[in-house]
Amino acid sequence: MQRITINPNQIEDKQITLTSEQQHYLCRVLRLQKGDKFIAMDGMGKWWLSQLDNTNALILHQLTVETELPISVTLMVALPKGNGFDDIVRCCTELGVACIAPVIGDRTLLKPSSQKLERWSRIATEAAEQSERAKVPQILAPITFNQSVVSFTNFEKYICVARGNSPHLLHCLQHQQEIIDNSDSTNIVIATGAEGGWTDKEIQIALQNGFKQVSLGRRILRAVTAPIFVMSLISGVSEV
Ligand code: SAH
Repeated sequence: MQRITINPNQIEDKQITLTSEQQHYLCRVLRLQKGDKFIAMDGMGKWWLSQLDNTNALILHQLTVETELPISVTLMVALPKGNGFDDIVRCCTELGVACIAPVIGDRTLLKPSSQKLERWSRIATEAAEQSERAKVPQILAPITFNQSVVSFTNFEKYICVARGNSPHLLHCLQHQQEIIDNSDSTNIVIATGAEGGWTDKEIQIALQNGFKQVSLGRRILRAVTAPIFVMSLISGVSEV
């Protein structure tokens, strides 16, 4: 069934007031007609079976969706060059990320324009709809690495470093099985670098702030591949 994301303040007394953009999407793009059903989601965990009624819609009942990962994962991602971040947002949303924090590191080549955040949020919404997520991940506004690295209190924190002898992320996650088992309150943040990797200074600052240095295996992954691999690993460990 077709899904659209709505703002909860569009609902009053089981009636959804559709925006003209949503009306266009439902009626012209999806070609739904009066009486047809679709799913309205608020992007924060609630889904409602709804019925189109000319320019508005009626909520029939709430649906139960259990498509979220059992742990809440934040990815801190040094912005890669070009449009690489679009792919990270799309794929990691499909894989269940809760929040993505883009950061500007010492070796970040790209300084994002202000419209980028809007574009990334739109990509996250579309990817969440398509992969039947209950929640749309939050995409934070880009800040510097130094600002971001101190902002995670009450998180299990990891920084992926491509070279050296760090333990594998999978190994760390398995040794924290109790975290995953008692996962209601588990927050985990994992940092991945841009094309040039992290500088020694950035790694030092992360370690000083409680991050553990981890490996993602013996090969060097691209800046776009690394966060996608991280999410695949976490979904395997926490769901199977
Ligand atoms: N140019 C760097 C590698 C950058 S790869 C170098 O030659 O060392 C981009 C980012 O992906 C890295 O900063 C790291 O966070 C992550 N990454 C890639 N491969 C990895 C691996 N095998 N283990 C841990 N992190 C990895």
